[in-house]
Amino acid sequence: MSQEVFTGESFSGPKVSRSSAIWMAFPARKSVMRAQYAALGNIRRIRGDYIHAMTVARVNTKGARRWQAGHPWIYRTDVTERPMVDAGAVLVHDTRGKPLGWSLWSPLSEISLRLLDRNPDAIIDQAWWDERIASSIARRVPLEDHTNALRLVHGEADGCPSLICDRYDQWLVVQFMSAGLERFREEILTSLRSLVEPAGILARNDVSLRAKEGLPRETTILFGDVPREIEVHEYGVKFLAAPWTGQKTGAFLDQRENRHFVGTVARGRALDCFSYHGSFALHLAKKATHVTALDASGPALMRAAENAAKNSLTNISFVEANAFDYLRDKEREGITFDTIVLDPPAFAKTRNALPAALRGYKDINLRAIRLLAPGGLLYTASCSFHLTKSLFLEMLQSAASDSGRRVAIRAFTGQPLDHPEVLTIPETGYIKGALLEVMD
Ligand code: SAH
Repeated sequence: MSQEVFTGESFSGPKVSRSSAIWMAFPARKSVMRAQYAALGNIRRIRGDYIHAMTVARVNTKGARRWQAGHPWIYRTDVTERPMVDAGAVLVHDTRGKPLGWSLWSPLSEISLRLLDRNPDAIIDQAWWDERIASSIARRVPLEDHTNALRLVHGEADGCPSLICDRYDQWLVVQFMSAGLERFREEILTSLRSLVEPAGILARNDVSLRAKEGLPRETTILFGDVPREIEVHEYGVKFLAAPWTGQKTGAFLDQRENRHFVGTVARGRALDCFSYHGSFALHLAKKATHVTALDASGPALMRAAENAAKNSLTNISFVEANAFDYLRDKEREGITFDTIVLDPPAFAKTRNALPAALRGYKDINLRAIRLLAPGGLLYTASCSFHLTKSLFLEMLQSAASDSGRRVAIRAFTGQPLDHPEVLTIPETGYIKGALLEVMD
């Protein structure tokens, strides 16, 4: 068995630091002590604390290689010895007993381990979370000139696995998406309260992922109060976010820069399909002569109309319809547009859904290309993780080919600064977008 240690009779988050604190108290003697513990067995009494090996996970070579390759997850099938404790933080060992670092531990999940810190001597305590979250927030500073609605923590990409924290003006919306992370709820809230000084923190823990972790799905206030609607702004455009009931944590912050970019090139008659609360439409309306904001959701469009009024924009009309039908009808009617935006929901929620999703993406893109006047612009996006960048491009090539028109790529876009896509963690990246120009 492993010689690695943990204090306390039963596991709970903060106690992680106590075991490490013992090591820290005797840094020079650490290796000697480790050897002694190994020789003495699993359980020893040191300074009144029980120290035992229950909080160690042992992983096979495949699991260890994932960490070496820069990916923080180790799956259940690669854990050869499971820690005998509840969810929380555990030390991870390779097959030979070499410590690889600290990890979140989710006993029920397929993703058993999520890397926290490669340093086996790290102390996962309040100071650790303060430092990790502070550096994540510091990375966003350049965005603060442009918006007050931004993601402060993007989970694994910011070294805080399974944690999401979005800021809407003076309020925060968080998501704790693993059992291991839940054990650090108090530390994380303390960090956020001291670093951001928010007026309130809402947990949008209603995501289905939590069920896989054995966690309840709920939307609850964790601190202060959070209004039903919050007025925020991005690049000079004001809009209402709906933290309690809106999609994601209340708005789609991940397309902010793309909305701004498309707003700068828009012209003529514009169409924003899948508009939600008018997100792209509000930006398009600054340059286009007229914008049609289309969505299947009536309540989303009602907010879109409120948003248009907030920005004193009078050149947007709102259409509640199915985008597939609408595009087909307009083609039949022979109507053309100069600018079209397609930002649909993820058609491919699973890998198995990919073939049908590809047909859906191609269908709307082909129809949009056909609807554009010569020189017209199409900004098209996909937020399906399973649709890779190359598949997305292939689908667009195929749509362009079927349209019989010459279509140029003016730009290929991705995620903004506050949603970092880490190259070694593909799951952190999901948005791809392209600005296409129909040349003839
Ligand atoms: N472009 C938005 C995000 C869109 S999310 C932004 O930047 O904020 C996807 C939207 O598509 C949702 O508002 C949903 O109501 C809408 N939707 C889903 N299926 C649809 C369909 N078949 N036709 C029209 N809208 C649809």
